[in-house]
Amino acid sequence: MPKKPLLEFTDRGIYCAKGKFYIDPWKPVDDAVITHAHADHAYVGHKHYLAHHLSREVLYYRLGEIQLQTVEYGETVMKNGVEITLFPAGHVIGSAQIRVVSQGEVWVVSGDYKTENDGVCTPFEPVACHHFISECTFGMPVYQWKPQAQLFDDMNNWWRYNLENNLATVVVGYSLGKAQRIIQNLDMLNGKIFTHGVIENTNEALRRNGVILNPTVRITAESVKEEVRKGIIIAPPSAVGSPWMRKFQPYSFGYCSGWMAIRGAKRRRAADRGFVLSDHADWNGLISAIDATGCEKVYLTHGYTASFTRYLNDIGFDAHEVHTLYGGEEEVVEAPLQPSPREREQEESEVQVSPTGGDLEGASLSEANEGGTI
Ligand SMILES: [Zn+2]
Ligand SMILES: [Zn+2]
Repeated sequence: MPKKPLLEFTDRGIYCAKGKFYIDPWKPVDDAVITHAHADHAYVGHKHYLAHHLSREVLYYRLGEIQLQTVEYGETVMKNGVEITLFPAGHVIGSAQIRVVSQGEVWVVSGDYKTENDGVCTPFEPVACHHFISECTFGMPVYQWKPQAQLFDDMNNWWRYNLENNLATVVVGYSLGKAQRIIQNLDMLNGKIFTHGVIENTNEALRRNGVILNPTVRITAESVKEEVRKGIIIAPPSAVGSPWMRKFQPYSFGYCSGWMAIRGAKRRRAADRGFVLSDHADWNGLISAIDATGCEKVYLTHGYTASFTRYLNDIGFDAHEVHTLYGGEEEVVEAPLQPSPREREQEESEVQVSPTGGDLEGASLSEANEGGTI
């Protein structure tokens, strides 16, 4: 009888029968190891959680009073004789790849990751393994990121241009990850950074965790509109098209997302500027990361799994598509807005414009009712 693999894919999540724990399970379990605090990886309802210590305050903020053990990168925890070690995933602050080792068999679960050092979270580190479980959110050749310095130059110039033209500046990005990257890369000589409540709640959780971020000002009912218009406003996708955002008119509105690499994506969101900014690896990043593990087998969990798996097999990897429920917070929410390959062909003639507000509303259920009141 062939030996049972150390990790298996079940209807609750990735499971280690020997160690009796799950990794990023989407149904309630006794023992969960969590790669990062995004909603599609960190579900509520588990009895015990293990995560990186920089995920602690965001997990408490999002999931309430959970039983949580936190560790540093490189620190090993034993569960029923199985070794668990976290390594940086470079995705968002506190994100980790999980290495699981037993009797010489090594598996790595990437969670979500990016290979570019964003200067905000601990940079991605390739981890040698036999079996690598990878995401492939942007596993298509069209997704190639520019170095972020170039992108933030564009953003700061756009902000300056808006100031000179009496336009407020609104930048939309997800509350955990993109928001902090934006905040840390804005030119503070231009003005102050104002934040939507959803963004500021996450910033505060990170600051409680000891993370040092540039100063930000929470927008409240008391905020003076003309003051706010002189700065830059960071808002979550759920604020797009809302009365909250319209209060700052006239404004120029920039949308930050990997999907902006696709022609037409900006127009679909009625954005004035599309910034191709993602916390996921691009096409080359995915392939180099997978290659660097030296793995015998790679399993693709979410994103363009079918075509990316085929491509990897063509270039000599032993790749397998697996079914999971990952791809939520910044993936599924946006994915319906990306065109299918067929739609892309029709791009030129396409006239239909999708609504911009409602389809992004569910960005993070836990955050739907929070935030600024202005
Ligand atoms: Zn994520
Ligand atoms: Zn994800």
